[in-house]
Amino acid sequence: MAKTILITGSTSGIGMGIARCFAKEGYQIIFNGLEPNGAELAQQIADEFGIRHIFNPANMLDPDALKAMVAEAIQTFGNIDVLVNNAGIQFVSPVEDFPEQKWNDIISINLTAAFILTKAVWPSMKNQNRGRIINIASAHGLVASEFKSAYVAAKHGLVGFTKTIALEGAPFGITANAICPGYVHTPIIDKQIADQMKAHQMTADEVVQKVMLDKQAIKSFISIDTIAQSVLFLASETANTITGIALPLDGGWTAQ
Ligand code: NAD
Repeated sequence: MAKTILITGSTSGIGMGIARCFAKEGYQIIFNGLEPNGAELAQQIADEFGIRHIFNPANMLDPDALKAMVAEAIQTFGNIDVLVNNAGIQFVSPVEDFPEQKWNDIISINLTAAFILTKAVWPSMKNQNRGRIINIASAHGLVASEFKSAYVAAKHGLVGFTKTIALEGAPFGITANAICPGYVHTPIIDKQIADQMKAHQMTADEVVQKVMLDKQAIKSFISIDTIAQSVLFLASETANTITGIALPLDGGWTAQ
C-alpha cells in the first residue's frame, strides 16, 4: 500500500523538492503552502508521477486549520506515515529594530506549527506503531548569525523539540530528526538577499559571497536534492534506529 507524507510549505523551494522526491517513490502527498498557484503546482506534480494527493493551504499561524488539515489527510488516506515540518519564514534586522509582530510570526510559523502538527499526527502514528517526523531546521538551529534573532531562536527551539519527541516517540516506533541546511538557493534566499543588503549596506553579490557562502567551507549553495534525498533516507526503514539527530547539511559551516 502506498505510504502518505504531509509536507508543509511544499509549493515552493525545499518543500517542493521534497515532494517531488517522495512522489517519485509513489508516496501519497498532502501538499501545503501559501503560494497562490499552490493547488496547480501540487496537481502538476501529482499528474507527473501518477500519485494521489491533497492540497491544503492551511496557514501555519492558524492551529485549527492545521488540525483540520491532519484530520482531512487521515480521513482521505487512513494515516500519515511521514510528517515534514518545512514551512518557514525569515526576517533580518538588528534586535533593537526587530518588529515584535515579526518575532511572533517567526516563532509561530517556524516552531509552534511543528508542535501543533506533531501533536495532531501523534495518536495515529502511535496506533500504527510507526511514524517519521522530520523537521527542516537550519544551520541556524546549531549556530547563530547577527540580525536573525527570531529565526535563530525558532530553529534552536525546533532542534530541542525534535530531541524531546525523539525520546517520547521511541517506545512507539516514531522517529524524529532535524535537518540543518546551510544556504539553499530558494525564494526565501532571494528575499533575504534584499534584507541583508539593507542591514549590511552591501551589494547583492557581496551579501552572497561575504555574508552567506563565506560561512560555508564549500563555497556554493546546498542543492535542494541533497536535502530531499536526506529526508527520503530518514523516512526509510533503514533509518529506523536514527532518532533525535540534528543533521547538518551545510557545506562544513558548523564544522568550524
Ligand atoms: P521558500 O520561501 O521557498 O518556501 C517556504 C514555504 O513555506 C512556502 O511554500 C511558503 O508558502 C510556506 N509558508 C510560509 N509561511 C507559511 C504560513 N504561514 N503558512 C503556511 N505555509 C507557509 O523557502 P525554503 O528555502 O524552501 O524554506 C523551507 C524551509 O527550509 C524553511 O523552514 C527554512 O527556514 C528552511 N531553510 C532554508 C534554507 C535556505 O537557505 N533556503 C536554509 C536552512 C533552512
